Amino acid sequence: MNIVLFGPPGVGKGTQGVRLSASLGIVHLAMGDLLRAAVAEKTTLGLEAKAFMDAGKLVTDSLVIGLIEERIIADDAKAGFLLDGFPRNVAQAIALNEMLDKHGLKIDHVIFMDASKDALLERLTGRLTCSACGFGFHRHYSPPKIEGQCDKCDGSLYQRTDDTEEVISQRLEVYAEQTSPLLDFYGDDKEFSKVDAEAGMDEVYASLERVVKE
Ligand code: AMP
Repeated sequence: MNIVLFGPPGVGKGTQGVRLSASLGIVHLAMGDLLRAAVAEKTTLGLEAKAFMDAGKLVTDSLVIGLIEERIIADDAKAGFLLDGFPRNVAQAIALNEMLDKHGLKIDHVIFMDASKDALLERLTGRLTCSACGFGFHRHYSPPKIEGQCDKCDGSLYQRTDDTEEVISQRLEVYAEQTSPLLDFYGDDKEFSKVDAEAGMDEVYASLERVVKE
């Protein structure tokens, strides 16, 4: 099964995407994670992407399109993939359709996760991530048992450099201008579903499961 998960920053695409893809036995392809890995490895792509990411802007389409095409045709994506954070604008959605056609693939579900701006801001400003395994925590809603330490692997927790108030507001603006038009792009497709992501984590997950089991 192939899934596109999209929605504003902080809506929980990463948290839910990891859980859903593990339960379906498909690979979780989070564009933000792929880019952060490239930045950490200081690859040419990573060096180019870093300035955009630090500023809360979208990385150039050609870079992310190339990166995703490599990943959806890789061996570990043969059983299926969940795209989290791609596409993020209409040009990327068109490019995705073209590459799916080219490789004889299709998307089974396009799921839009929605939450209010207040909820997004609260989630983003309290977000903590494990530097070793990538697991996500929240200072107030799901704090780690030991401050600064991952419950799963004991790795140290960090706040993403783009989770500062200034960059968050830029990312929300970019979302409104460039990503939200995807609602029109996908909205009438039979594969499209909308999930209320403002509820608790387990409730949101149950809604996502209902969609993919339809
Ligand atoms: P995320 O982890 O999904 O919040 O993404 C973090 C940052 O990576 C974004 O603010 C963008 O700078 C960049 N990014 C992630 N996905 C894309 C994409 N599909 N197109 C362009 N830039 C992206």
